[in-house]
Amino acid sequence: MNTPEKLVIIGSGPAAWTCAIYAARANLQPVVYEGALSEDNRLLGTLPLGQLNLTTEVENYPGFPQGVLGPDLMANMRLQAERFGVRIITEDIVRIEIRRPFEVEDSAGQRQQARAVVVATGASANYLGLPSEAAFKNRGVSACAVCDGALPRFRSQPLIVVGGGDSAAEEGHYLTKFASTVYLVHRRDKLRASRIMAERILADPKVKPIWNSAVEEVVGDEERGMTGARIRNLLTGDTRTVEAPGMFVAIGHTPNTKFLGSQVELDAKGFIRLKDPFRTLTSVEGIFAAGDVADPLYKQAITAAGMGCKAALDAERWLAEAGV
Ligand code: NAP
Repeated sequence: MNTPEKLVIIGSGPAAWTCAIYAARANLQPVVYEGALSEDNRLLGTLPLGQLNLTTEVENYPGFPQGVLGPDLMANMRLQAERFGVRIITEDIVRIEIRRPFEVEDSAGQRQQARAVVVATGASANYLGLPSEAAFKNRGVSACAVCDGALPRFRSQPLIVVGGGDSAAEEGHYLTKFASTVYLVHRRDKLRASRIMAERILADPKVKPIWNSAVEEVVGDEERGMTGARIRNLLTGDTRTVEAPGMFVAIGHTPNTKFLGSQVELDAKGFIRLKDPFRTLTSVEGIFAAGDVADPLYKQAITAAGMGCKAALDAERWLAEAGV
């Protein structure tokens, strides 16, 4: 076993890179585990550089008056961290052992000790949980329009987006570039998305909302993959099949905390519970949390970056005080 690192950071979104930049400049020589380049991570949307790497234009991150592309923003954050000497390992952390020093194990089976750990692993896309949805994943069903929307099978075809939040509005808007029609299936008769995004999507002539409705089954066959979805009107109970070779699920995210087991206190939805909502301390001394993994409320790029900064400062202070 090699000598313990002062600080290991797990994740590669705005929280992780901001934390890495601050920690490197404070001479903590951090190591970032940015996630593995695996098929599992692709399907879950947890590849390196996180959720922003799967978006297009980001218009609400200050400093970019004309907006910035999510992948460019993330690549630049990573470059900035590298410029300060941050070491980056392209693997997931699959296990963490709570002892002094902590021990983490990565997806390549390598172990590393660390005096302090920042968890900034973000969140993964939720699916509806239908067996037929799982059967057609990659053959019509996706949770990432930016990753899959331009595939030939979706070109000039009707497509379905499920959900009513900002993600659904963003995915739906993106898909209008390729689709003939975008059916927006939402379980209520009103979007939860922010006003500007809701107005934009509903004003698009290619978008047809299907209100008060839920996808009951994804239909298709071996040869063609998904061909449509059976949709139930939740008020009348009527069902109809909408023909579409693609369905994009945008119904929220679940925090990536599975690898922690029950060693760090989580809330009922799996978000890391912060000891003090203003800080980044968790139930385990020496483990800090930042970004969407510990934020059930705001979930913005800029709030994640701010939490990453706090986590670096909290870890630095704790390492100095604890003398570990
Ligand atoms: P969200 O705001 O939680 O919305 C999830 C949507 O999915 C809701 O409309 C919800 O319906 C629906 N839903 C949840 N579970 C469902 C199920 N089992 N079946 C059918 N529908 C279901 O999640 P989000 O859209 O991913 O956004 C998450 C956060 O990221 C938000 O804070 C958002 O502002 C932010 N975000 C921002 C941007 C941006 O600013 N550009 C883009 C994307 C996301 P109900 O409405 O009935 O609850």
